[in-house]
Amino acid sequence: MNQTVRVRFAPSPTGYLHVGGLRTALYNYLFARKHGGKFVLRIEDTDQSRKVEGAVENLIDTLTWIGLDYDEGPVKDGPFGPYFQSERLSLYRTHVQELLLNGEAYRCFCTAERLEEARRNQLAVKESGAYDRTCRDIPPAESDRRAGEGEQHVVRMKVPLEGEIEFEDVIRGTVIIPTNVLDDQVLIKSDGFPTYHLAVVVDDYRMGITHVIRGEEWLPSTPKHLLLYKYFGWRLPVFAHLPLLLNPDRSKLSKRQGDVAVEDFRRKGYLKEAMVNFAAFLGWNPGDEREVFTMEQLIREFSLERVGKSGAIFNIAKLNWYNQQHLKTKSADELVDLVRPLFEAAGFQAIDCSYLGKIVGLLKERVTTLPEFVSASGYFFHDPDTVDEKGKRKYLTDDVIGHLDTFASRLEAAPDFTPHSIENALRSLSEELHISAGRLIHPTRLAVTGTTAGPGLFELMEALGKETVVRRMKSVKQFV
Ligand code: GLU
Repeated sequence: MNQTVRVRFAPSPTGYLHVGGLRTALYNYLFARKHGGKFVLRIEDTDQSRKVEGAVENLIDTLTWIGLDYDEGPVKDGPFGPYFQSERLSLYRTHVQELLLNGEAYRCFCTAERLEEARRNQLAVKESGAYDRTCRDIPPAESDRRAGEGEQHVVRMKVPLEGEIEFEDVIRGTVIIPTNVLDDQVLIKSDGFPTYHLAVVVDDYRMGITHVIRGEEWLPSTPKHLLLYKYFGWRLPVFAHLPLLLNPDRSKLSKRQGDVAVEDFRRKGYLKEAMVNFAAFLGWNPGDEREVFTMEQLIREFSLERVGKSGAIFNIAKLNWYNQQHLKTKSADELVDLVRPLFEAAGFQAIDCSYLGKIVGLLKERVTTLPEFVSASGYFFHDPDTVDEKGKRKYLTDDVIGHLDTFASRLEAAPDFTPHSIENALRSLSEELHISAGRLIHPTRLAVTGTTAGPGLFELMEALGKETVVRRMKSVKQFV
């Protein structure tokens, strides 16, 4: 590759970032970073009816959170701006004028009613329902006159009636499409705005985009884009169409089946590292068994050649797994920074940093998402007001309550209170009593935490502190 790589993420601002959009943005970003190129963010906002207030800010915020810094785009700007299509309208008009002059596009004056009628007639004789090309052969002089008189119209591209369009897609290989399945695509709508098809070609060319990496849903549009490149006499970018995202039942991934917005996952406490790792594997793999990747590793290893053709399954269980893997790699300090706001929002104020560090260190192997740190750590902040019912029946027999009392007194009297000293005290007591260590471990946990499962008991007791532990053990009888 001797040309500087320039790629783009070109979302329509619909209000949220779909996981599919994240995957597209990520692959473009990885490709740009790997090849020392530029990653452009372009907002495709030519459909005025779909405008959503705050959508662009939200999108930029989400991309920034996840670590996909763009080099050129809204706010940042750059040498190829503006980066909002709605601010580039004159450019599209200039280029379409060229097509009109060369007879590669034509004005279509058909009214909505006439188009609907033509469509019904076509469908009745089992044709595609595409535009019947009534206006295609209006002589240029007449077309100019009618437009000059202010007659409403759109501009359509002239698709050759015969022949084939062939192109190489990095992921899909050779793609061949006969032109007769293509509609005479509208390029400029009656409101003067371009359609996606015109704008995307003009912008990709004018912004010097070298590789168009986008979802497979755009593959059927690509032949029209190729024709436009040909009409304009422009050099083609490389195309790579990413596989569809599917639900586990292989249906197309949709909002209906649950969360697909990156913001939702962020709100639920998923780590950005996990989202990135998960999105990277929606279509790509490194060719071996490794699954846990950081952004830096992905940049090093990513290649379009290793992106598969077949649909990628979106599996929440897998996302949870990635989240756990990345949680485990975080230091206590990093986790404290991440969870402190969640604890505060849940009403825990002025928490001691080193205490919180111990808590997250103890829980990090046992939780899936960040909010679970909060929900799993109640007993670190207050004495349990109930104990697990089943545990109570199983463990809290009269003799065991007596043993817990003895154990508590010994801990109270001992000079040290470390995991090691606590364990030693427990083991020597169980030997003296001729019972297994387990007969003390489980009831102790129940007394101290109110539950029957959790992190390493001795470490947990140390974190809670001697006074709290002794108090809870001595007062466990209140629950029986
Ligand atoms: N605006 C299109 C979208 O919302 C972009 C398609 C493309 O990348 O060409 O997905």
